[in-house]
This record gives sequence, structure tokens and C-alpha cells, in this order.
Amino acid sequence: MSDVAGGRGVHAPAGVAEARSALLAWVDQAGEAGRTFLQARLLRTGDGRYELRHRRDVHRSLRSLEHVSSDPFSAREIAQTTGAGAHRPLKTSPNLRQGWALVGLDGPGAWTALDYLYPAAAVHWHAGRTGTLRVTHWRETAGRQSGIYSPVRLLADPAVRDTVRACCADAVCLRRVAWDLDRGTPLGVLDGGAATGDAEVPCPEACSLFVSLAREVVRVERAPRTEVPGLGAVGPAEAAQLRAVVAAAADGTLGTVREGEFGDPTNLRRIRYLAARLAAAPAADASNEER
Ligand code: SF4
Repeated sequence: MSDVAGGRGVHAPAGVAEARSALLAWVDQAGEAGRTFLQARLLRTGDGRYELRHRRDVHRSLRSLEHVSSDPFSAREIAQTTGAGAHRPLKTSPNLRQGWALVGLDGPGAWTALDYLYPAAAVHWHAGRTGTLRVTHWRETAGRQSGIYSPVRLLADPAVRDTVRACCADAVCLRRVAWDLDRGTPLGVLDGGAATGDAEVPCPEACSLFVSLAREVVRVERAPRTEVPGLGAVGPAEAAQLRAVVAAAADGTLGTVREGEFGDPTNLRRIRYLAARLAAAPAADASNEER
């Protein structure tokens, strides 16, 4: 069971204005150092305004950046694509592009820009700090899926955990998973890592990208598996995936598949799922291999 329905989704019970004031006060307190919020850096400048840029661009001059604007709404376009021009379906993936700065923003403007870069993240950050985050646990999220996504409710708990390892670790998403399998069944994975930057941003509910990956995982998990020496139990789709990954690595195309393209066996999250599953398989008897 998730948090009570009446409170669910109410991540800023005192209103967004309170979360915004808290964020700006937090930035102000940091002085000249500014704060990093996931991959963005927020700084209060001498004139009482705010500046945002990519955290890795901190030491670059404004003149060296490709895009400098005082329009907070331009953050929307910045967040859409990676530096290589690929669509970003998940804004908290660690692939925010560099080379831009938003300057001369007032408080509401800084909040608006950050919300375009990381939708709802500052509200969740504030809710996490104040103990007011409301979470929806996996079984409820899965239970309300319909149509082609409804089979995700059939996923066994170990497969859900491996999907979290594949989809939600820092290498692919900078939020911290705050939901569990249900209220009495902890996920128990990805615990204890340090926040990226100064802000810890909780994830209150499995996102649509996670549900899409889970749908693909159902298909993989339903297929019969046979023992392969050194690998453990492997299904036909997984064997084909291994071949595709090796072929893509060999011809230099590994890593070029779009983030949400789960039909492709060389998708990063699909590879991460296979890696998590194989890591959990009983280890091969190395002494046998050496003989
Ligand atoms: S479900 Fe996972 S991938 Fe999606 S936002 Fe939450 S932590 Fe990130």
C-alpha cells in the first residue's frame, strides 16, 4: 500500500511558493560558491539576481558559451536534447547538455528555469527535506497500468529489483528511488549512495520510462531459459541480445541507441538489466573453467 490517497501527490502541502522560497534561501546561503542541483549550478550574483548553467561550465566565461539568455523559458529547449542532439525522454538522466547560461534571473525566473530543466524536482527535493514527500509504491503503480502496460504487474519482485538497478542507478538517473515494492516490502537496492551535487532529489513514483522498461522485462522473463555453462540460465532473447551487444561493440555503434528505445537489444538500460540478472546468477565454477 502506498501513502494514503488523500495525501498522495501532495509534495508541497504549503504550496509551491514555500518550496521556491526554500530553494532560493538555500542558494543564497551558499554565497559565491553557489549550489549544484543535479547537473545544474545555481548562483546568486552580486546584483541580487540568479544565474544557472551546467555544473561543468562553472569556470567558463560567458563569452565562451554558445547560448546565453535572460529568458528562463529557454531552459525548456536546453533540456530537450543532449549535446549530441538526441531527445531526452528523462530529464534527470545525467546527460544535460553543456554550453549555456541563463543570467540575470529574478527568484521566480530561476525557479521556472530549474523546473524546465528538472520538472517537479525542486518540489520533491523540498518535500524530501521536510519529510512531506508522498510516495506511490510499485504494486500500486503497476496495478493501475492498462493496455499493453498491464502485464508489468506480473513481474516478480527480484525482476522489479533488477529493473531498478538497470533503470534508476546514478549512471542513468540522478534521482533517488523513494518508493518500495509496497509499504511493507522494501526494494533494498541502490541504498546509501551520495547525492549528485548538493541536492538529493527523491523519486516518489516509478516514471513512464521505468514502466516501459518493465514491460520489456516481462517479455524477457516469460521466455524459457536453459543453462549455459559460465552464464547460468539464459533465454533465447538474452542470447540474441548478447550477440547483438558484442556485434555493436565490435563495429563501434554501442551506445548510440535512443534512451527509450527498449525494442533494441543494445539499449543501455536493457544491457544493464541483463548485466544485473547475470550478476545475480550463480557464479560459474572458475576452477572448472581453468581445467
Ligand atoms: S523511476 Fe527510476 S528512472 Fe524513473 S525517475 Fe524514478 S529513479 Fe529515475
